[in-house]
Amino acid sequence: MKFLNTNNLSIFKPRNDMCNTCISFESKNISVEQYDVHRKDIREMREEKNNDIESAKAGLCSLLCMDMQAVKLIPQSKANASYYKMKLQVHNFTIYNVITHKSDNYVWDETEGSLVASTFATIVIKHIKKEILNTPNIHHFIIYSDGCFYQNRNAVLSNALISFCVVNHITIEHKYLVVGHTQMECDSTHSLIQRKMNNKQINLPSQLVQLMKDARKNPYPLVVHHLQHSYFLDYENLPKRYSSIRPGNKVGDPTVNMIRALAYDTTGSIYYKTCFKDEYQLLPKRTTRNFEIQQPNLLHPQRLTISKKKWQHLQDLKALIPADCHYFYDNIPFE
Ligand SMILES: [Zn+2]
Repeated sequence: MKFLNTNNLSIFKPRNDMCNTCISFESKNISVEQYDVHRKDIREMREEKNNDIESAKAGLCSLLCMDMQAVKLIPQSKANASYYKMKLQVHNFTIYNVITHKSDNYVWDETEGSLVASTFATIVIKHIKKEILNTPNIHHFIIYSDGCFYQNRNAVLSNALISFCVVNHITIEHKYLVVGHTQMECDSTHSLIQRKMNNKQINLPSQLVQLMKDARKNPYPLVVHHLQHSYFLDYENLPKRYSSIRPGNKVGDPTVNMIRALAYDTTGSIYYKTCFKDEYQLLPKRTTRNFEIQQPNLLHPQRLTISKKKWQHLQDLKALIPADCHYFYDNIPFE
């Protein structure tokens, strides 16, 4: 999960995410016992992933990792005058196949999509749907990501995934990396993209998309999907099998925060574990009414608006970019 300054002028993402727990231990602020638990979590996570890599290599499953890149701002200009202007946010959500190194990048600007659970559910489901067509003999998918709630760990995504598994007769496991130790293969894609962008004038989202495509040569170029608002589906307002993914509801029961992995089967059941080494347990279902799978509606019937202030800033920035790019900025919807 990345931190984004609300005024949208400065974006901060530490290059090497330092782990709070590890730092606290070094500065003697947590006990040896607490630190040992943390080390054990990390060790088990690495063992789990190594096992999954072996299964994927043996053709038993497809192994994916996914993460959001730190937000990019358009236009990107070296001119000082652009520094204090609000810019258009462009998002990139990467799904990386750990075995084949295929790296799919789903890119959209803030007028085409928002950062809600349905956004990520749409991308993950459409991506796996394509994978099923490409590799029809694979029926099991394992996904690694961080535990960010709005992207990866919420009831909207879980309900979308369980219906998807039932309809397509596949199973999915979604595993969450230990906080502070979320390095994964997507990171290599993100640093290649960042390197390609450095010191470039970038006038349009489509130009950024082209740079992304050119950011990697081996084993093959990055796959970049430039998304529009009509791509995204609304998974939030569908009937839900599971009203919540909280494993328990009494004090002392495991919380969503503690979920280490979720598993989705073909019968409509979700399983969870709070330790990689544990066996999966059935997630209690809290919806009793008859459940019927429905198709989601469009999430955004039209493009989203930006604030009047940001629109004005973007109009000012047109002075720094070629005239044939102005049309894009003239047509950005604002409130
Ligand atoms: Zn740590």
